[in-house]
Amino acid sequence: MTRSPSSSTGLHGISPASAKPRRAAASTPAAGARRRKAAVDAAPAAGSTQRIVDAVTTAIVERRLMPGTKLVEQQLGDLFKVSRTVVRQALNQLSRDHLVVLEPARGAFVAQPSVDEARQVFEVRRMLEQQMVRQLCAVVTDEQVALLRAHLVREAAAVERIDVAGRTRLLADFHVVLARMLGNEVLAQLLADLLARCSLIALMYQSAHDAGHSAEEHVAIVDAIARRDARAAARLMDSHLGHVERNLQLHPRAVDLAAALALA
Ligand SMILES: [Zn+2]
Repeated sequence: MTRSPSSSTGLHGISPASAKPRRAAASTPAAGARRRKAAVDAAPAAGSTQRIVDAVTTAIVERRLMPGTKLVEQQLGDLFKVSRTVVRQALNQLSRDHLVVLEPARGAFVAQPSVDEARQVFEVRRMLEQQMVRQLCAVVTDEQVALLRAHLVREAAAVERIDVAGRTRLLADFHVVLARMLGNEVLAQLLADLLARCSLIALMYQSAHDAGHSAEEHVAIVDAIARRDARAAARLMDSHLGHVERNLQLHPRAVDLAAALALA
């Protein structure tokens, strides 16, 4: 089991999905292994905590863990072969990431984001990600464009073979990969957290936005980045996130009887 190097620095909240491209893009495997070994030697408990955080986050990103699911401490402890103290630390971390809710006397549950929270998460993503692709157009290298195209090939292949977990993770990772290419770890981490929350939101509010459509929109964004067309990249990102949000059923249907009956 590999661990995110973040465990050595105490920086949590990076999903393993998002940690992968960073390791691939930013460091050699040997350097990664050295850091991981150092992390394990320095803080074995922190490593175990991160392992649980990563596993739960990945299950949420891949939409295998449903909102409202109870996370039983004892069961997690048995599954990961760790003490309940370590499990509790992991659940606290997940609660700070807004992925888990801790209820006194009842225990831990996978979070169920409200409609307001969903809107706010998408609002923040639109602000961040438009600016992100705009900046990326100014600094992106041909090698990074090639990495993005390789990511798109993997997305398309996962969509093609109806690999639901794989395609969901790759579609989310696309956004974190863009952030990471700017070399801004704070932004990448923030986006990884927001993406995991978006997975819960999509599970809560039935997204009609299909994976194939998202993959096509990603291709258009990368085409704009490859042309270093900042304005087009920002516009395409905004409309992509707008489509994803609009396809969530965040609006109660037919609240106005007259409008519903077309009498208004
Ligand atoms: Zn997307």
